[in-house]
Amino acid sequence: MAVDGSLKGVERRGLMFVLSSPSGAGKSTLARMLIEKMPGLSMSVSVTTRSMRPGEVDGEHYHFIDKARFHAMVKDGGLLEHATVFDNSYGTPRQPVEHALSSGRDVLFDIDWQGTQQLREKARVDVVSVFILPPTAGDLERRLHTRAQDSDEVIAGRMSRASHELSHWAEYDYVVVNSDLNEAYTQVVTILNAERLKRERQPGLSAFVRDLQNQLAK
Ligand code: 5GP
Repeated sequence: MAVDGSLKGVERRGLMFVLSSPSGAGKSTLARMLIEKMPGLSMSVSVTTRSMRPGEVDGEHYHFIDKARFHAMVKDGGLLEHATVFDNSYGTPRQPVEHALSSGRDVLFDIDWQGTQQLREKARVDVVSVFILPPTAGDLERRLHTRAQDSDEVIAGRMSRASHELSHWAEYDYVVVNSDLNEAYTQVVTILNAERLKRERQPGLSAFVRDLQNQLAK
């Protein structure tokens, strides 16, 4: 077996693994754990016009750009998808994703439902989407406060948007309730590993089986 779970030596097509949730449901933590622990997975670093929060690093959490640059990227087709969230613009740079997928790597996206819809329209078979739910509304609010990155006003705005974001849960392939971080992580990894093993994601399988048949015929 190769490190990513597929058959060793069998060519595999990279998949687009999307995590979405209302802010505060633990999605970013799950994304970080996946990138640290799962081989063969690259994070898609989005561009955004929002300002940097304390502790964020340009080029790591986001590429922080101004509105003019964002509009230029949209115009030039440099973004695979883009959306306005909380009055700021966010988008996925196309080139790094295409590069990773064509070299057989999977790409992880932390994007909202609007971006997920656009990716699905463009590449349905390559997109695997997971919606992360908080166990309770109180839990969501607590996490937003603990994060201490936003003002009370911003947090109130995020809470009122959460209900709207939740309404998109049924558009996702999988739904995970994050009551316990390690359990949610295990569930997300299980989804990724199973999707990696899908027959249609391993185009090299037909050659592998043909070879087996040739061996058997001898
Ligand atoms: P935040 O400002 O808290 O980092 O992100 C706000 C929301 O924007 C989150 O739901 C996040 O998933 C979403 N988001 C971040 N990057 C992108 C992107 O490139 N495209 C889309 N559509 N949403 C994004």
